[in-house]
Amino acid sequence: MNLSSARLTGHDPSCLAQWNHCGDPCQLHPDVIGPLQSLCDRANAAGLALRVASGFRSFERQLAIWNAKARGARPVLDDQGRPRDLSVLGERERMYAILRWSALPGASRHHWGTDIDVWDAAAVAADYRLQLVAAEYAPGGPFFALHAWLTCALGAGTEFFRPYATDTGGVAPEPWHLSFAPVAREFEARHSPQLLRDAIEAADIELKTVILEDLDAIHARFVGSARCIPSGDAR
Ligand SMILES: [Zn+2]
Repeated sequence: MNLSSARLTGHDPSCLAQWNHCGDPCQLHPDVIGPLQSLCDRANAAGLALRVASGFRSFERQLAIWNAKARGARPVLDDQGRPRDLSVLGERERMYAILRWSALPGASRHHWGTDIDVWDAAAVAADYRLQLVAAEYAPGGPFFALHAWLTCALGAGTEFFRPYATDTGGVAPEPWHLSFAPVAREFEARHSPQLLRDAIEAADIELKTVILEDLDAIHARFVGSARCIPSGDAR
């Protein structure tokens, strides 16, 4: 696969395909669509309506999210889902607070078209406002049945996996985030601190100075999956 820096950092969606599923169009890597349709069909047979909340996300979109959070125009949540007061934090603390739930532009797995956020439309009313927070997927939450079904399905031969299944001190656990291993592993292997540095240096991004100072550590800690890094000051 020809993986340019632009494709790895969300600047080039030209190789993606449009997937229209139950009226929710999204862009995905073409190799993901067939296996994802199979996963949806299996979920459907189990009484679940698996829907994709988010597929491909561009660098520009991720940059807008990052800057809105850094400027206080969009809430930054703590591990309990409560908004944090960023005004009392220094720049480095603000950066790590945002990184807990939001990828750095250029470092999101959603840039690849291989990763999706999923939910269960059969479990909630049509006007339900999806939050993508841990409580929705925990026992008692509306998507716990989907979560439990996925845990069995992912352990039984599907090529999707959860890159943020456990808390390694980087990205907070995201039970809703699935990744298509055969393609995503190639993107992971080709991603590097240098191409992320190049993307950040060229961007009009908040907190740029501290991002560049800590960039190698951020790449090691937040890019990729299932890395065994002790938890600590990112929380
Ligand atoms: Zn996600």
